[in-house]
Amino acid sequence: MTERVFNAYRETEPVWVHHLPISKYPQFPSLDHDIETDVCIIGSGIAGISTAYELITGDRVAHIISTLDLDCEFRYVPAYRHEADNKIISKGADYAGDAGIDAVFQKGFSVSGWDGDVSQEGAAVFAAQGTFHPTKYLLGVIEWLKAHPNFQCFADTRAMGVEEGRDNVIVWTEQGYIITAKDVVEATCIPLQDSSILAEMSYSRTYCIAIRGPRYDRLTACDDNNDYLVVGGCDHKVGQEDSLDRFEILATWARQRFAHAGSVDYHWSGQILEPVDHMAFIGKKEWKMHTYVITGDSGNGLTHGVLGGRLIADEIEGRENSWAALYEPSRMTVQHDIRFVIQLGSSTRDACSS
Ligand SMILES: Cc1cc2nc3c(=O)[nH]c(=O)nc-3n(C[C@H](O)[C@H](O)[C@H](O)COP(=O)(O)OP(=O)(O)OC[C@H]3O[C@@H](n4cnc5c(N)ncnc54)[C@H](O)[C@@H]3O)c2cc1C
Repeated sequence: MTERVFNAYRETEPVWVHHLPISKYPQFPSLDHDIETDVCIIGSGIAGISTAYELITGDRVAHIISTLDLDCEFRYVPAYRHEADNKIISKGADYAGDAGIDAVFQKGFSVSGWDGDVSQEGAAVFAAQGTFHPTKYLLGVIEWLKAHPNFQCFADTRAMGVEEGRDNVIVWTEQGYIITAKDVVEATCIPLQDSSILAEMSYSRTYCIAIRGPRYDRLTACDDNNDYLVVGGCDHKVGQEDSLDRFEILATWARQRFAHAGSVDYHWSGQILEPVDHMAFIGKKEWKMHTYVITGDSGNGLTHGVLGGRLIADEIEGRENSWAALYEPSRMTVQHDIRFVIQLGSSTRDACSS
């Protein structure tokens, strides 16, 4: 029988624990003394682990998987987007094509296993999208890091604050220990102590279910007869709508399309952080010299976590990266300044005309 382990909220759990229960995760001690290090990464999700990997050796997902020989269900599959209005998705496919992405609109396109009453009509098809089992991937990387002499990891160690000094950065923990580092990376999904970045994002909650289907629906492995179809969506602004029936809505949506779908075995949810300009915040924090952040994933945190690891490792190690400016967290400051000038201009005009 599959071991079921509940997450921190003790209400829901993702399908990713099906073949990889939390009890099989590598164990790390909590920090029980002060330490000094070159780089302190706070957070060991995909952003933190990717940063650690990139600092030790440079690489991306497909390459990392082949280099470390990770068994994490990695494969390239087409992605389909369909909506009631074919014009919208057709236009989206054209825009993606213009941007150099292999995407086309296919009228009458039919997804394998979709045998329900709802018609498919057409879809934008994005070729060769990489997909993988996120926790198998992360555990593979962390097992590799664990064996590396330059890597230490501490669990159950909450960072309470980060402060830059003249020569180093200090992180202090809930238990009262101090980490002294040359550079600190906040890979905590939601950044610590940073009201300016927090104010530049909106927050939604998104939901997923894993529903059993015959093997050809495959999204992630279940058992000898079934695979899991992962169905997500039903997003809403945090705190503004009831979340109770969202999993049921997703199950109904799936069953209307995949008539043979079986039981819903897993359901889980989490927050999406959406920057006002839809670009993640990755890089040096505003006014800081040695404190970095990876946040604002727009629901694509697996991509952003891996990308963020590379961008930050490049910045710390002084390598130029042509993508860095796009994600620079301080880019919003420029807009604030412009808004301020415009406001000042109009209020000055008002004062003059009254
Ligand atoms: C239902 C759902 C579906 C999704 N679907 C997709 C998808 O299809 N594709 C995709 O790319 N992304 C998807 N995402 C988003 C993706 O899972 C996340 O964006 C990504 O995992 C975030 O990774 P992270 O490393 O930035 O943060 P996290 O995984 O949240 O890791 C942050 C870590 O920092 C730790 N931490 C926080 N504060 C502190 C502190 N003070 N001290 C010490 N440690 C701290 C946390 O405990 C945690 O371990 C989905 C998310 C959900 C919930």
